[in-house]
Amino acid sequence: MTDSTKSKSRTLLGRLREALAEEGEGQERLDRITQIIAESMECEVCSIYLFRDDETLELCATQGLNPESVHQTRMRLGEGLVGRVAKTSHVVNTADAPSSRGFRFMPETGEEVFPSFLGVPIQRLGERLGVLVVQSREARKFTDDEVYALEVVAMVVAEMTELGAFVGEGAALSARHQQPVLFRGGVGQEGAAMGHVYLHEPRVVVTNPIADDPQAELARLHDAVDALRVSVDEMLATAGNGKGTEHKEQMQVLETYRMFANSKGWMRRMEEDIARGLSAEAAVEKEQSAARTRMGQVTDAYLRERLHDLDDLSNRLLRILTGQGNNTGAEMPDDPVLVARNIGPAELLEYGRKLRGIVLEEGSVGSHAAIVARALAVPLVINTDNITTEALNGDHIMVDGDQGIVHLRPDENIVEAFKDKIAMLAKEQERYASIRDKPAETLDGKVITLAMNAGLMADLPSLESSGADGVGLFRTELQFLIRNKMPKRAELAALYSRVIKAAKGQRVVFRTLDIGSDKVLPYMKAQDEPNPALGWRAIRVGLDKPGVMRMQLQALIRAANGRPLTVMFPFVAQFEEYCEAHSHLERVLEREAALGHPIPENLEVGAMLETPSLAFAPRKFFEEVDFISIGGNDLKQFFFAADRENERVRQRYDTLNVSFLSLIERIVERCNETGTPVSFCGEDAGRPIEALCFAAMGLRTLSMRPASIGPVKSLLRRANLDQVKAVIDEARARGDQSVRPAIMGWLRGR
Ligand code: PEP
Ligand code: MG
Repeated sequence: MTDSTKSKSRTLLGRLREALAEEGEGQERLDRITQIIAESMECEVCSIYLFRDDETLELCATQGLNPESVHQTRMRLGEGLVGRVAKTSHVVNTADAPSSRGFRFMPETGEEVFPSFLGVPIQRLGERLGVLVVQSREARKFTDDEVYALEVVAMVVAEMTELGAFVGEGAALSARHQQPVLFRGGVGQEGAAMGHVYLHEPRVVVTNPIADDPQAELARLHDAVDALRVSVDEMLATAGNGKGTEHKEQMQVLETYRMFANSKGWMRRMEEDIARGLSAEAAVEKEQSAARTRMGQVTDAYLRERLHDLDDLSNRLLRILTGQGNNTGAEMPDDPVLVARNIGPAELLEYGRKLRGIVLEEGSVGSHAAIVARALAVPLVINTDNITTEALNGDHIMVDGDQGIVHLRPDENIVEAFKDKIAMLAKEQERYASIRDKPAETLDGKVITLAMNAGLMADLPSLESSGADGVGLFRTELQFLIRNKMPKRAELAALYSRVIKAAKGQRVVFRTLDIGSDKVLPYMKAQDEPNPALGWRAIRVGLDKPGVMRMQLQALIRAANGRPLTVMFPFVAQFEEYCEAHSHLERVLEREAALGHPIPENLEVGAMLETPSLAFAPRKFFEEVDFISIGGNDLKQFFFAADRENERVRQRYDTLNVSFLSLIERIVERCNETGTPVSFCGEDAGRPIEALCFAAMGLRTLSMRPASIGPVKSLLRRANLDQVKAVIDEARARGDQSVRPAIMGWLRGR
């Protein structure tokens, strides 16, 4: 790049800045900008196309084309050369536009006399805003320098669009970040919430894209990059002495940071941007935007991760440059709805129950953040594309966790409808609260014990508010999953002791570590298995490598400190596995006694029935075990051979399928024959219709999410189980596939 091109570029940006500083409506500014660009680049035409909606571009200002076509000429994404630039985010540079692929003739613009065409995307952090075009009468291809210059200008236009510089009368452009936006994502946790946005990691807004002293900007950039390198080196030094896969991954990320922070290419591009008149912040953001665009186009997972790392690093650099640090000082609203790209379980726990709702751009149903959100009973919507770019701190937001929908800055009608929904839910809650202390007794006098599932300390307050009869399933792996290293025995003992205390004498069923399959500990060597759900998981790991299981059993015994204790082994597929686990427990008990620790006054040891094989175990198993809990999530997946994580096949098989209900019935019969207490603790226990049918099949204990206890109890108290059983039997006799239609019909008819 020659000095003269640099100074030309700087003069252009300088003129743009002056134009933007002038008073005037948005349209006037846009017009003025196209005029300045055309003049500076010595082209007859300069036009700005902006998105009207996700799919449509509109000519918003032009110098050189027919002025009548402004706000009239529109094209769809991908249509014509302009549409192609917008769709692919790639530059189109041609000396012969009419013969180029995709060219669309638009007679109203009068552009047919301008064969050369250069179009660059106007985008900000991966978000497409529009297209900037120059055209000229002379048939020639634009030079690399000219392309670069136009890209820098496009960057400034993007920033100004973001800051609302073009909003106003006649501009037919609505202000960004002020319009209502609807996001359709996925359901992470049901429930409805209304509040104000609190951004987990607020993005930096660049208010000064153009600078007139490149030397000063270069010095700022160099100082900031130096500070960044020092901080990355410090992070590497502190992270230096860990172990395990998690640590290895962390080191990998930091090494990538270091690589980028020292990358000559990255620095050179930013220096060039500054030489052309951008401020240091704008230069960082220009390269970040380019990386985001590449991220959207790269399919290789590893490369995407690295581009992600570059994105994070750019954010750090922007924070250093703007002096914002990690905290922008934004105050948390009284009714915060957390908006984040993604969040770790530990960070989410720190926010805790303060949050009204959570909206994530990424995330998945089985993610640890989702598990925590469920434990906190905070509505969660996942996979909401672009919400962190759209939402601003303090924006009004409504989260519909049942539908997976988020309304950002909703209009009045939506607000009213949503308020009605919340009021209705609140009314239902009131009804549930009124029966909280009443038993789940059916009309024909059968009492069903409704316990709750838990896994975190944060769950325990629900014991009282939901009116649950104790904790029917405490998933101990959550404590292992939210950490980045193996918890110590003393830590676990302290935690279990707090759980037992919080339960105030009610029974807590502690399930021993259930890892593997979808629950992979970040600090344990990942297994490369073809079918993890059928692989080395749960008790199989515990029996093959008993160290951790025994440590956990010790922690449980010490936590009980002489009080009653209930332990349950997960995923037992055959009697011998239970016997083996039991004998480990006996040895641990002996050892604890020898060490002088008190032994539980009453110890119940149970097994989870999660594989069809265990339903057909020898009678002796049923006699030996103190209790059985049916893990319906896994049992159903193995019964139907349908992956519980795969929506496509999961929904194909109804839980109320007669075969599955008959299996449940058979398990209950076998337990009754030997007097073995049996419960059901899979997610289906929390669905009222399913719970009703399980009760009709003879189950007397169900364990579910605390929020489900009210709805389940409410239905049970209004039903006669003998009648339900009769409806099921008739459906079976008819050969129905599922009893659901019959049950629903019967419920409606009453
Ligand atoms: C189950 O499989 O039903 C169960 C309760 O265990 P998890 O969902 O933790 O696998
Ligand atoms: Mg299970």
